[in-house]
Amino acid sequence: MREPELNDDQRLIQETARAMAEEHFRPCAAKADRDYEPPVENLRVLAEHGFCGTFIPEEYGGAGLSLFDTVVVMEQVARACANTAILLSTTDGATPRSILHLGTEEQKRRWLPRFVKGEALAAWSMSEPEAGSDVAAVRTRARKDSDSYVIDGAKTWCSCAQVADLFLVLVRLSDDPGMRGVGAVLVERGTPGFTIGNHLDLIGLRATGMAGLTFDACRIPAENVIVPAGGMRHLFKVLDADRIAGNPTVCLGVAGAALDGATAYLKDRRQFGKSLAEFQGLQWRLADMAMDLEAGRALLWRAARRIDAGAATPMDASVAKTFVNEMSVRVTNTAMQLCGGYGLSEEFPFERYFRDVRGMSVGYGTTEIHRNTIARELLEGRYAA
Ligand SMILES: Cc1cc2nc3c(=O)[nH]c(=O)nc-3n(C[C@H](O)[C@H](O)[C@H](O)COP(=O)(O)OP(=O)(O)OC[C@H]3O[C@@H](n4cnc5c(N)ncnc54)[C@H](O)[C@@H]3O)c2cc1C
Repeated sequence: MREPELNDDQRLIQETARAMAEEHFRPCAAKADRDYEPPVENLRVLAEHGFCGTFIPEEYGGAGLSLFDTVVVMEQVARACANTAILLSTTDGATPRSILHLGTEEQKRRWLPRFVKGEALAAWSMSEPEAGSDVAAVRTRARKDSDSYVIDGAKTWCSCAQVADLFLVLVRLSDDPGMRGVGAVLVERGTPGFTIGNHLDLIGLRATGMAGLTFDACRIPAENVIVPAGGMRHLFKVLDADRIAGNPTVCLGVAGAALDGATAYLKDRRQFGKSLAEFQGLQWRLADMAMDLEAGRALLWRAARRIDAGAATPMDASVAKTFVNEMSVRVTNTAMQLCGGYGLSEEFPFERYFRDVRGMSVGYGTTEIHRNTIARELLEGRYAA
């Protein structure tokens, strides 16, 4: 692994992250999945290596790394354990980034150093039973009451809810219809009237503590309104960085692990008196997986660099996320097939790799919604091939 696209510092980050993840996270990845137990203890290891809240500036205790650097770290963590990568992404994902860019100075001083130390986890809650892709349909409401807001409503599919300390929650803050009435508030775990539900079981990422949230006359201070009604465009700008560093980077890491694992398996397994790796048909499947993976990494790295340079278009994150989501499903699916019955067995990691990436084409904007963005750029003349 010697990437000419990385400078010396980035290569060191990559190698350190890989060694750490292989030593500490891979050995317990299958157990976390089997027990549905978020591996929160891994955050201590990540924090010790300086890999929590990587983007957070030095004045708040962080290293102020670029989005690209975060992507390099996250890929290596996800190779070893996707659940750990998702937990990690909450320390430098949507909620911490929103606090840095949109929060008050007091919120920054209170929360950002804790994310860097791995002492606090943050969740992001948009989805509701009746509002998925259609964010403007959010019904959970926060009403002003003297110097506070009172929240009522229900959320669903909130990743890391069961272990998070702080939640960024999209709510209806005014009577204005559609997106004009939607904003966002910060809610701390333990606030009276705020309940975190039972674990919601999806196909994969079983150890991320996903749950629904209920708000019943939950009172928060007025300064916890982080995005006022009608200000969602500011939040979506922040989210583009998170869209790259979390979801598709986890897919890239898992796809890399699947390709490496399948390659080793084919070299080891013998049928018809020779190793499976000697069958040209199977070699070509490996070659296809490698081409797919390289294309995905190139798109993702390019998008991260463009966001860092302030030169990204709305297409960059959508193209990279959509391609890498679908690439990872193809690659992990082929890895299972190449390993035969063992590929489908829990004795090997291949079926977990497939399960862990499958939901990513739905999370953080479905691949259809991102195709809508790409098509809009094309049709409205902002992109030409
Ligand atoms: C692994 C995972 C993690 C998640 N984590 C979180 C989280 O932390 N916080 C959170 O708030 N939510 C989270 N979600 C929820 C996720 O954001 C929603 O599932 C997603 O936004 C889609 O909403 P929906 O499930 O209601 O589907 P719907 O919006 O009902 O869509 C159903 C289908 O219709 C398609 N569709 C809808 N509208 C259009 C359109 N205009 N054009 C074309 N096709 C369309 C969709 O692409 C999809 O295929 C997570 C989901 C998953 C799978």
